[in-house]
Amino acid sequence: MNLHEYQGKDLLTSYGVTVQRGKVASTVEEAVAGYEQLKAETGTEFCVVKAQIHAGGRGKGGGVKLAKNIDDLKQHAGNILGMMLKTPQTPGGLDGEGKLVRKVFIAEDSYAPDFDACKEYYVSILMDRGSKRNVIIYSTEGGMNIEEVAEKTPHLVHKEFIDPHVGLRDFQKRNIAFNLGLTGLAYKNFLVFIGNLYKAFIGSDASLFEINPCLKTGDDRIVAVDAKVSIDDNALFRHPNLEAMRDTDEEDPTEVEAKNYGLNYVKLEGNVGCMVNGAGLAMATMDIIKLSGGSPANFLDVGGTADAARVEQAFRLILRDSNVKAILINIFGGIVRCDRVAQGVVDAYNNIENIPVPIIVRLQGTNADLAKELIDNSGLEVHSAIALQEAADLVKKFIG
Ligand code: GDP
Ligand code: MN
Repeated sequence: MNLHEYQGKDLLTSYGVTVQRGKVASTVEEAVAGYEQLKAETGTEFCVVKAQIHAGGRGKGGGVKLAKNIDDLKQHAGNILGMMLKTPQTPGGLDGEGKLVRKVFIAEDSYAPDFDACKEYYVSILMDRGSKRNVIIYSTEGGMNIEEVAEKTPHLVHKEFIDPHVGLRDFQKRNIAFNLGLTGLAYKNFLVFIGNLYKAFIGSDASLFEINPCLKTGDDRIVAVDAKVSIDDNALFRHPNLEAMRDTDEEDPTEVEAKNYGLNYVKLEGNVGCMVNGAGLAMATMDIIKLSGGSPANFLDVGGTADAARVEQAFRLILRDSNVKAILINIFGGIVRCDRVAQGVVDAYNNIENIPVPIIVRLQGTNADLAKELIDNSGLEVHSAIALQEAADLVKKFIG
């Protein structure tokens, strides 16, 4: 689950990480109120107005603007709120339709008072599956073109691998600060910054932290000016305060709907819709579809209790995808009895107006024979199979 910048900064602050402070606003009036509060706290009139969407590269699309006074602020907040912001990371990129901006973050100008003395660095933390370690990726070349830096001058991007059992060691922090060329007070402040940042990463069960730019100010403070934060969905139950930050406006509507029904749905590009219980069986089903010449249109795990309502909902989600040429239902009846699932399939088939594609149902496990009988006698265009190979052959037959 991704957080907005302002939410990510709240999380970082709670771990003692220094961030660019600010106030979130949904209207120009709220922006003005936030600005007045911020001015009182920081004593400066400058601020930046930052669009809050789940995509980076906002600066490039005109979603980050410096305001030098209240009139600038009103103008920028007015322009950015409600705009369709196009960035290299929104769907379709800079030529796409963009994303609607519903909130802005009114932030202190972290680069004041001495803009020229500031330096932008890049720091991110994520899990490296290959080495089974967390990795801190960092560079002296922070700012808006890190992708280009990584591509053209990869030697300027450094990595520090962290054994999760041991944690981030002091010598590693010093190594990073040294490689970034920091000295004196900035060096010391960075050690505290990176230590707290890593604690926040572990403490929140995050899968990604990206701080770009991570700023060294004229007076040698280290400040997270931007914060891209993703939390591992599987750990959200341990963090109700973070789960409450979910912004479904920013997520894929079909995946959100699936989640509400307790379905695990991921859309893919193929032509065979899948409805399966259990993630392992779902993966195996996708493999057998590939082996029989098709390609899966989705990953869909209906979970352990594949009752009629869920089966129907799963059908509706799959059928929304116009690429789907056949649906393969592959359920193992362990806790759930196959005949009940079969009844669910028949009911769903009857409830949904028009199912224009053949359905292949493979039910294996408790009461599998009963289930096959139910489906074969239903009079519907549902094809049953008990062996997985049989099911695959049917898929092959129908997609040609
Ligand atoms: P992103 O474009 O979505 O990554 O958004 P960022 O939060 O990284 O902001 C984009 C750029 O705006 C940064 O790289 C900075 O150059 C600039 N910026 C951000 N905050 C400030 C600020 O407080 N003062 C000034 N002068 N520039 C800022
Ligand atoms: Mn950024």
